[in-house]
Amino acid sequence: MSKLSQLYQQVILDHSRKPRNFGKLEPYTHSCEGYNPLCGDQITIYLNLDENDIVREIKFDGVGCTISQASASMMTQALDGKTKEEALKIFHEFQQMIVGELDINDQTNSLSSSNSLGKLTIFSGVKEYPSRVKCATLAWHTMNSALESKNKISTEKEDLIN
Ligand code: ZN
Repeated sequence: MSKLSQLYQQVILDHSRKPRNFGKLEPYTHSCEGYNPLCGDQITIYLNLDENDIVREIKFDGVGCTISQASASMMTQALDGKTKEEALKIFHEFQQMIVGELDINDQTNSLSSSNSLGKLTIFSGVKEYPSRVKCATLAWHTMNSALESKNKISTEKEDLIN
């Protein structure tokens, strides 16, 4: 294992052991409960958006594997203070990266502001493990559905291909 992937693994472990922004948010403007039956991951996302659609608070709650918890924890850090539009852009880039459709080397080598993923690129290795893709994207799909005012989603239903 390379030094880089060891570092990545440490960051993921750290977030799963000490999840940031963990707990229930009350009151909230948006919330959704997500479930990944393949692994048993359960995550609830809470958001508070202000009148300008800026994420003022974001928290998550739930139980699940290391990847799902770390992904949720890092997502809350990445989206805090972002607009709804920015949050959705980061979601789509994250999704593309996880399935290998986004060249992150292109992103990390670039000094342009097109790189919205930042630290989240540590999850790019997940594409090598198709069974973990749903673990990594659960929090993101749940956040997206919360913003669309859905209350519950499952990775085994409807449009959740990833
Ligand atoms: Zn999982």
